[in-house]
This record gives sequence, structure tokens and C-alpha cells, in this order.
Amino acid sequence: MIDSVYNYPLYRPPSEAYSLIIQITLGCSHNKCTFCNMYKGKQFTIKPFDQIKSEIDFFRKQINFIDKIFLADGDALIMKTEDLVKILKYINLKFPEVKRISLYASPRSILLKTEEELKQIRELGVSLVYIGLESGDNETLKEIKKGATVEEITEASLKMKKMGFQLSITVIAGILGNKDSTNHAVNTGKVISKIIPEYLGILCLVVHPETDIDIRCKKGEFIEASGDQIMEEIKMIIENINIPENEKIIFRSNHASNYLNLRGNLPEDKEELLEEINYALSNDYIRKRNEKYLKYGRNGF
Ligand code: SF4
Repeated sequence: MIDSVYNYPLYRPPSEAYSLIIQITLGCSHNKCTFCNMYKGKQFTIKPFDQIKSEIDFFRKQINFIDKIFLADGDALIMKTEDLVKILKYINLKFPEVKRISLYASPRSILLKTEEELKQIRELGVSLVYIGLESGDNETLKEIKKGATVEEITEASLKMKKMGFQLSITVIAGILGNKDSTNHAVNTGKVISKIIPEYLGILCLVVHPETDIDIRCKKGEFIEASGDQIMEEIKMIIENINIPENEKIIFRSNHASNYLNLRGNLPEDKEELLEEINYALSNDYIRKRNEKYLKYGRNGF
């Protein structure tokens, strides 16, 4: 029955592994990023309230207790505020035990909302928003067809913070392949220092089938960065994150796509993180690990 509720493929951030996922939209309203194939086969759709309501009823019957809910798919905040409010009110009615509601949001969907609208959404329990920055460099964002500028993403992020939302931001290492990525890394560090999200995740580019990058790879126009290049890039991003001592970013770079499992708090653990990367680079760890990946696949199976 659950399979008839969900419209696959279904994605959620790793930190939502134990959340109930409710699809209030399908697909992504942008769907053009050169590295992403998540919603290629889905037409962006805002689901009708009656359908969402009956799915919420279905989940309530199956689940005794849930404290986290994630609203999927790619850009749930793009929904009209009055419709989103209706859904959130119904979720609160049916799942009064819920402590956190989260969603992916695009800069556009945030900037389209007034502060008053965001306040209402926050008061109805949405407390964590996932934003894909990918890069803090405008040239890079243009190349990957992100559909938003650094200035827009920064403005949207700061607006959410002002309205009391927690932010989880992801950036992608290796997004330019083996080309010089200094601007991407340095500017990403600088933008993160400006936004100061609660959570920062650095992923490594994985070339997914049928993406623009995959097509360019096959034509020899895009060459993937080596593991060492990627680690140098992550090092540069961290070096350029400079925030006051009294601030805190929970930093994670431990997704399955990463070569080195890094976690810590910034700025507190900055030097330690850099030391870990330097140690791995100087001991040829990344190259050896990469060879293992090539032999057994990224998950080691
Ligand atoms: S990365 Fe995000 S915004 Fe870009 S196409 Fe994929 S889901 Fe849409």
C-alpha cells in the first residue's frame, strides 16, 4: 500500500532517515542542474490538498509515533502559502507529537514569500530548511545551470535565518571536474561565512547517468577531479570559512560520495579538520581509497 502512496523516485536528506516523508509536490520546479538526475523523469506537480489529506490519514493509521516529518519532493516551499498552511495545519492536527517539519527550498521559492508568510509557516512547525548552494561562485553556478545567483541564494538564506528557520546547506566538491576550482572553493567558503548556516554538508560530485555532466563526460568534455583534487578543494573551502568564535556550524562531509569522512563543528574544529585532510593527502590515503572504490564500487560491495 505504501508504494501506491509514494511517487518514486523518492529522495530525502540523509538526516531525515527516520522521518516520515510526505510528498506534497512531485519533482523539482527547476530541474535543470547539470549534475542532477533526481527528478528528470517527473513533471513538476503540486499535489491537490484532498490527495495529501488522505495520504496523511493513511500514514496516521500506520504510524503510532513520529517526531519528524519531511515534506518532499524537490521544492515544497514553492506551493502557494495558503495551500501550504492548510497542509501544515492538518499535519499538526493529525500528528500533534511532531517536533520538527523540514523541507527542501529553492532560493526562488523563498524570495517569493513575504516575511509574514514565512512567519506563519515557521509558526506552524517548519523549522529546518535544506538549501542547495552547491557553490558560492557565480561563474560556477552559471556553468552548472543552478538557476540562481550567489546574491539570491545568500539573500534567501539570510531571510530564512531572520525568520527563525534553521538552515542546512549543501555544497558540491568536484563540480567543475579537473578544472581549476580555486574560485569555486574560495568563494564558497566566503559565502558560508556570510550565511553561517546551522548545518553545512560538503558532498562530492557523483556523475549520474543521463545528466548533462554525464553526456559531457562521455564526449570527453568533462573530466572528473581526482580524489586528491577534491580533498584540496574541500580544504580550501574550510580554510575560507571564517566565522566568529561565538557562532557554530555543524559541519559534515561524510556522505557515501565522500573520500574522507569528516565531521566537526566550525570554527572550533577547523584546524583539526584541516590537519585530517593534510594527513590523508600526505599519506596517499585518498588515492589508495579511490583505487578500492574503483575495484569494489563506492559502497564497498
Ligand atoms: S539540484 Fe535541486 S534544484 Fe537542481 S535540478 Fe536537482 S532537485 Fe532541482
